[in-house]
Amino acid sequence: MVARHDQTRDPELLAALLQARRGTAFFARKLNELSDAELDGDSLLPGWTRRHITAHIGYNARAIARLIEWAATGVETPMYPSTDVRDHEIAFGATLSPIALRHLFDHSAVHLNVEWRDLPEDAWHHTVRTIQGREVPATETVWMRSREVWMHAVDLDNGAVFRDIPVPVLERLLNDITGAWKTRGTDKDLVLKVTDRDLTLGDTAAASPTVVSGPLPAVVEWSAGRGTSGVTAVGPRTTNGTVPAAPKWI
Ligand code: ZN
Repeated sequence: MVARHDQTRDPELLAALLQARRGTAFFARKLNELSDAELDGDSLLPGWTRRHITAHIGYNARAIARLIEWAATGVETPMYPSTDVRDHEIAFGATLSPIALRHLFDHSAVHLNVEWRDLPEDAWHHTVRTIQGREVPATETVWMRSREVWMHAVDLDNGAVFRDIPVPVLERLLNDITGAWKTRGTDKDLVLKVTDRDLTLGDTAAASPTVVSGPLPAVVEWSAGRGTSGVTAVGPRTTNGTVPAAPKWI
């Protein structure tokens, strides 16, 4: 069935879809501001050029579209056969001509959007599996994509900043990151204070914690391993006021 509008009527899901679509438009804008030659430049991710980021975002849309096809048909189609295959695909994608790379981004985003739009209401609750092995309802794919497009738009390193990311996306990102730390136990003695939202996260029961504070965008930026600007730190993990590196989360 080909539909003009989203098949779902769930207001929460429609809001999430809008956020993912806005994030995709934001990524597209930042990508389109770059000249072909500038695609060769470094991204904010070590070892990755802007080409790698763009290829990754394109293949990510295809991988998520495979999960939506899975949810629609019940035929298991994983995101990627393995993380190795995914990494090779990104390395290959980064070598494409600028026009092919831009098409990869555009076409994969349109394709994913069509898959989302046409997914029947009940199929949104079907279970699919992420590359990390998590079993999630298809609705979760919308957040998986949102997170990628908003954050990697910043990683393109041509003017997008964490302050450009909508607050609900930042809040959920911070939840994901601190949740990953908790699962691994790497948040021991570490407390995050979000100064503009009266929010404290992390090992709040610690007797002598290291406290990293700042406004929400800066705390998320630091937690995601994207630098220390806008945050301050006090406590045993700091020396002479330097902000320590955040624990890994992916
Ligand atoms: Zn990514």
